[in-house]
Amino acid sequence: MTEKQDEIREKYLEMYEKAGIYLTEEEKSRVSFWGYHCDNDDIGSGGVNYFNTSRCTVWELVMLPWQTIPQHRHPPVGSYPGKEETFRCRYGSVHLFVEGERTGEIKGRIPRGREEFFTVFHEIVLQQGQQYTLEPNTLHWFQGGENGCVVSEFSTVAMNGYDIYTDPLITRCREGSGEQQY
Ligand code: ZN
Repeated sequence: MTEKQDEIREKYLEMYEKAGIYLTEEEKSRVSFWGYHCDNDDIGSGGVNYFNTSRCTVWELVMLPWQTIPQHRHPPVGSYPGKEETFRCRYGSVHLFVEGERTGEIKGRIPRGREEFFTVFHEIVLQQGQQYTLEPNTLHWFQGGENGCVVSEFSTVAMNGYDIYTDPLITRCREGSGEQQY
């Protein structure tokens, strides 16, 4: 882990504490920063996986202010309609962008230099205690608000290898890193 990643990890652990979320030492050891662009800390997040069975999975995600999970969708695979995700904000706020009518003035920030790969702008801002369920195979991206966020993600089974990212650079980075994601 680089010094920078270590720094981000420390901040993530503080945020879990602020959120009042207890993690075991073993779980804490699995918290790290996952970048999608090796050189851009704004595109990435952290999290810890509680369990991942053949039917469902739960993540406790964490993002610093304006850190972004880039636009993607979870397509059908065979008879499986694709991953359905429910996000519940535990701390701070999260800006979720989904398909649908474009929000007039969005409050989230489109990552610089990658604007062309963000195309859905129906914005839903979740505050602590609010949640949203996303249909499978719909484009989405999300971002930590001004104080960052801790967000629980409850979903059907993840088939990460099939996820489709709008930004081709991310697909390449993921292939290189082997990171498994939401
Ligand atoms: Zn997703």
